Amino acid sequence: MEWETVIGLEIHAQLLTNSKIFSGASTAFGAEPNTQACAVDLGFPGVLPVLNQEAVRMAVKFGLGVGAEITKKSVFARKNYFYPDLPKGYQISQFELPIVGKGHIDVQQEDGSLQRVNITRAHLEEDAGKSLHEDFHGQTGIDLNRAGTPLLEIVSEPDMRSAKEAVAYLKAIHSLVRYLEICDGNMQEGSFRCDANVSVRRKGDKLGTRAELKNINSFRFVERAINYEVERQIALIEGGGKVAQETRLYDPTKNETRSMRSKEEANDYRYFPDPDLLPLVVTDELIANIRQDLPELPHQKRERFMKQYNLSAYDADVLVSSRALAMYFETVVQESKAQPKLATNWIMGELSAALNKDNLEITASPVSTTQLATLLQRIEDNTISGKIAKTIFESLWNKEGEVDEIIEKKGLKQVTDTGAIEALIDKIIADNPDNVAAYRAGKEKLFGFFVGQAMKASGGKTNPQQLNELLKKKLADN
Ligand code: ADP
Ligand code: MG
Repeated sequence: MEWETVIGLEIHAQLLTNSKIFSGASTAFGAEPNTQACAVDLGFPGVLPVLNQEAVRMAVKFGLGVGAEITKKSVFARKNYFYPDLPKGYQISQFELPIVGKGHIDVQQEDGSLQRVNITRAHLEEDAGKSLHEDFHGQTGIDLNRAGTPLLEIVSEPDMRSAKEAVAYLKAIHSLVRYLEICDGNMQEGSFRCDANVSVRRKGDKLGTRAELKNINSFRFVERAINYEVERQIALIEGGGKVAQETRLYDPTKNETRSMRSKEEANDYRYFPDPDLLPLVVTDELIANIRQDLPELPHQKRERFMKQYNLSAYDADVLVSSRALAMYFETVVQESKAQPKLATNWIMGELSAALNKDNLEITASPVSTTQLATLLQRIEDNTISGKIAKTIFESLWNKEGEVDEIIEKKGLKQVTDTGAIEALIDKIIADNPDNVAAYRAGKEKLFGFFVGQAMKASGGKTNPQQLNELLKKKLADN
């Protein structure tokens, strides 16, 4: 039986405003509990919400980033439900008329192809507070600092067909909101999280019943949660059962999803327009103004990198995944005038591995763009070999000095003097008569042995290309 997976994501991106969406209280992360919730956030009688214009600008920015229609007159609605971390008894959100309408994003897949994911809508809303279950015995604490923090909820069409595609889409949106500087994308702090709606169907059938996996805050967990859920639903249907429309929680420690509540028990939110807030009007002037300030977007940068630097789709995609990484790359290429592919290999190889190991962001790299650029120049002008460059890179990482200084101090200059290389080869030929005879008798695999000997004798400093040529010539001479 051919099963097909269908996935739609609801992403919550916390907007990077200084103050809350309807009050002047701070949105800074990590403050003492309940020190950043004011009377508006707490829903005291008599207070009035005032819309944060910066949150509006950010939502419009996002809309333009995904080529969406911006709703000229959108409406805030009350979504009513009772929960301890929601002091007002309702959340201010948008329902029928969201600020951002239909849009799309082209997501690069593993094989380099682009897949379009349609975006149904994106709306502004406020976050709730947080229940603290761990810190108290037999009781629940409430921290209302997060209450009223601005969120943009981005809803996709059910366009994804595998966990991998869902993660690729999530990463594309993650990268976009950081490019636009509207969200810090910090998943650990919950600034960027998603609900995954998952269903399965036999190929050609209409959409199956979906389960909603709530609040997943890592790319790895999204992939695992979806894969688990797909297996569960297929097994259920093949066993004669039926998938229930319900909300499920993913438990990363057990790698399973568990039912939280069924749709029948789900709240009736009794949405209605918030009488305290006027409809939100976005003028053409504001839209034009924001459009003018848009940075180069990830997909535009990706295309430019492929053309301008002749990079593969894969390389370009990795490099543009963050604006800072893309900038690092371009600076190194400009400063070094090195082959872009060489710079790419170093940044995606040596540098990325070192950053990962020390858990550092590119912006905190101990090796500066100027240092890497110099290193690449020394490879290209044949002062050092690529192999020696790796040891120099390590020294740079450990702040042992500048490139030329390290080459000088450690005597790492490549041997390119033909006479010196020939002398080295003559000695190796003289020292290994048996191998030389075997090679000349046709055992060509031995060539590597001679290269190894020469490199060992010179501490890896012989120019590999010259060595190869001269060795071939000398070994051929009888
Ligand atoms: P709700 O508000 O109840 O969560 P929506 O209609 O807004 O419902 O849909 C939420 C998400 O579920 C959307 O991202 C949508 O693409 C996705 N979705 C809808 N139907 C399916 C389905 N059959 N399988 C997978 N995802 C679905
Ligand atoms: Mg939902």
